[in-house]
Amino acid sequence: MRAIDIIRRKREGGEHSAEEIAFLVAGASSGSIPDYQLAAWLMAVVLRGLSASEMAALTQAMLHSGATLDLSSLPGPKVDKHSTGGVGDKTSLLLAPIAAAGGLFVPMISGRGLGHTGGTLDKLESIPGFRTDLSLEKFRSVLAACGCAMIGQTAEIAPADKKLYALRDVTATVESPGLICASIMSKKLAEGIDALVLDVKTGSGAFMKRPEDSAHLAGLMVETGRRMGKRTAALITDMDQPLGSAVGNALEASECLAMLRGRTTPADLYELTLELAGWMFFLGKKSPSVDVGRQLAADLLAGGKALAVMRKMIELQGGDPAVCEDPEKLPLARHQREFKAATGGFVSAIACEQVGVAASLLGAGRQKAEDAIDPAVGLVLHKKVGGAVKAGEALCTLHYNEESRLPPAMKLIEQCFTIAPAHPQARPLVHGVIE
Ligand code: URA
Repeated sequence: MRAIDIIRRKREGGEHSAEEIAFLVAGASSGSIPDYQLAAWLMAVVLRGLSASEMAALTQAMLHSGATLDLSSLPGPKVDKHSTGGVGDKTSLLLAPIAAAGGLFVPMISGRGLGHTGGTLDKLESIPGFRTDLSLEKFRSVLAACGCAMIGQTAEIAPADKKLYALRDVTATVESPGLICASIMSKKLAEGIDALVLDVKTGSGAFMKRPEDSAHLAGLMVETGRRMGKRTAALITDMDQPLGSAVGNALEASECLAMLRGRTTPADLYELTLELAGWMFFLGKKSPSVDVGRQLAADLLAGGKALAVMRKMIELQGGDPAVCEDPEKLPLARHQREFKAATGGFVSAIACEQVGVAASLLGAGRQKAEDAIDPAVGLVLHKKVGGAVKAGEALCTLHYNEESRLPPAMKLIEQCFTIAPAHPQARPLVHGVIE
């Protein structure tokens, strides 16, 4: 079999056999197929799509590219959540400790920034010393000790996703339902979980911008989870503006730690976290309903129990637990610049993808696979959609280290906010649920 023939077949709109897909995935994991051929195939998939059987074969091949965990010796339900990716989408940093504090085990395998969206691993690694490259043995021991552990794809678990994910990030090949489904479900199915909550984003900052495309992706993932015997639900949630206020790795970690210390704002981040946690507790059979699970999550946040789990996990994964109390221990950017409103009125729209790109231009994301990210940079929104604003009031603050990175990011931000005389109609936070 030759990679070039497989690429050509997809370029011409043909359908792959399971063997062809297994060949590509094995080549991605072992390195025997070079990046340029993998990238060409990914682009052909984005343009031509994957059939249901190709997607199932890809998910299976990626799942079996590495080890799958058997966590049956842990005494309790194993539940995880995964998002399809958004801007300011930081709920994983809250949900893992909340769910663990409520008696679930959360063996979370996450990704780095992808396209214009941020990644859980990059956010966690902004905590000084925090390691996301644990061995499987260490991963298990952290999980057993504090109920949650958060790592990335490794040479042992989902290595094919590690390779393809990094290539997709920098070759504009993220936006394919089949690739997203296989990427997410291969990682999640390798984790040895009993149940999974999927947060499928929709709106201008999501990879699937239209609700019907997000619903299609949600259906693919729920069906894949069901086929593999996992209790799975997908919430289609709003990503038409950034979630919460902070966009950028340490800024987002700081926002989550403040919420773990008891803050209930930003309201959208708080509400979505409770909703997703409610579903985790419900599917993990820790609560009789999602509503009871929501209340449990609110109590665990208010009582500091989730913060205690976070502190322990940070310590066990090599990080500095002092960040839990002192946000100044997180990396801070040297410079800040406000962006102010030219006119007064109400914020009627925020171009969400552009906000993510602006953060990336400041150094929060990668332009090339080998780029290092700057954990300190990003931006903080002072106004969200529906917020009243006066002329000259700050809409957001850009945090940056390198002067040369400010002008291109500022140029984008100048086009991101729409101000209108009337209050806009509110969009729902949760557009629908697929079980
Ligand atoms: N998250 C993932 O893990 N993979 C994707 O493809 C998109 C979001």
